[in-house]
Amino acid sequence: MQLAPGHNCDSARSRYPATVREVAAALAARYADFDHYNLKDPLDELLFIICSTKTAESSYRATFGQLKEAFPTPRALAEAPAEYIAKPIIAGGLSGKKSRSIRALLDAITARFGAPTLEPLRDMNDRDAEAFLTGLPEVGKKIARCVLLYALGRQVFPVDTHCWRIARRLGWVRRTQKDGHCAPRDADRLQARIPPELRFSLHVNLISLGREICTARTPHCAACPIDPWCRRIGTHAIPTKSTGSSAARFG
Ligand code: SF4
Repeated sequence: MQLAPGHNCDSARSRYPATVREVAAALAARYADFDHYNLKDPLDELLFIICSTKTAESSYRATFGQLKEAFPTPRALAEAPAEYIAKPIIAGGLSGKKSRSIRALLDAITARFGAPTLEPLRDMNDRDAEAFLTGLPEVGKKIARCVLLYALGRQVFPVDTHCWRIARRLGWVRRTQKDGHCAPRDADRLQARIPPELRFSLHVNLISLGREICTARTPHCAACPIDPWCRRIGTHAIPTKSTGSSAARFG
């Protein structure tokens, strides 16, 4: 394992926060906290995330725009049958499943708040707002925390596929599931290790890194801005794109 710059040998506990801060600073210098076009209205953000499921960024942004064009107000959308909701989002794929999810979400939200709105979440604390959101159909911690982070400005850390993969490669968290997926307790453990004021920055910049450099199949470590702090856990001797050399370090 390569030690991080500025490492002191006291203990893993003492060096861990420093490493997180150094990684966050290196990523912020590279990606400047680009927010990936997420939205400030919590209901819009929730629908945007549903539209993005298993869909390329270029497609889901257009798909969400077409949904908003077809149903300009939340009430218009809330009154539409699922088959009508499916039509404007068909280009993003899985339109049948996504339209049924949107239908079920709007029904549940309207039943609780009397209208298709998530504005009441602004008056809730983080824990209550997250509990409400995760109680909605097909909404887990990742989606709930995206709504809280992007639309409500809360200091939470959604663990998406990029954040999970890179955190494991860095050695910040271990997988606990045989299938390698992030369990709810894993998401909580990882969030707890990231200082609240760094959560937005780290989340958005890890996504940028995961799309550009630390991809699932071919991490381009030679070009990576956080290479000095990375243990490359779970990576193998993959030739890097820029040098053709092998990633020789293992966690
Ligand atoms: S050094 Fe390699 S494995 Fe580590 S974050 Fe960068 S690209 Fe990913």
